[in-house]
Amino acid sequence: MDTQVEKAFPAERTCNYQGSFACLQCKQPCCDELFDASPYVERMIAGMERFEVRSEDVPRCPHCGWQLVPWVRDDTFLQGAAWRESIERYERFVRERSDCRVLLLELGVGEMTPGIITLPFWSMTAKLPDAHLLSVNISGDSAPLQLGSKAEAIQADLRTLLSVARVGDE
Ligand SMILES: [Zn+2]
Repeated sequence: MDTQVEKAFPAERTCNYQGSFACLQCKQPCCDELFDASPYVERMIAGMERFEVRSEDVPRCPHCGWQLVPWVRDDTFLQGAAWRESIERYERFVRERSDCRVLLLELGVGEMTPGIITLPFWSMTAKLPDAHLLSVNISGDSAPLQLGSKAEAIQADLRTLLSVARVGDE
């Protein structure tokens, strides 16, 4: 959602379940279209006067004229063709590996919408015969007890943890 995953993985291997700030959508939405946010953001920044965006620089839908808004989950979130395709790709990836040894990494996941990542990961860990869950979070380190030895939790700052892991790779 914060466009960091795309820096490490090709788009066809990611799933933006909650959308991405890299894209805009029509606020209605009137169409199943995502717009690259970069040129709109650059124009808004270039035209800013004392931290205010000029009204003529507010992104507008080319089809209906309503505002374009960040493509991130809210009550008008566009779950269109691109979103459905990425969900299908993710579900196929998981399905094809259901009999394999699977490690589910839950890195820095918040508690606001547990139905998106946390609960499905718990469910997959419980159902898949050789799946394990490792969650890393700065705010807590409790693994769900019902998963027993299939789940582990680490309380850590991801920046520190990942920089140590990177040094270990070299
Ligand atoms: Zn529109």
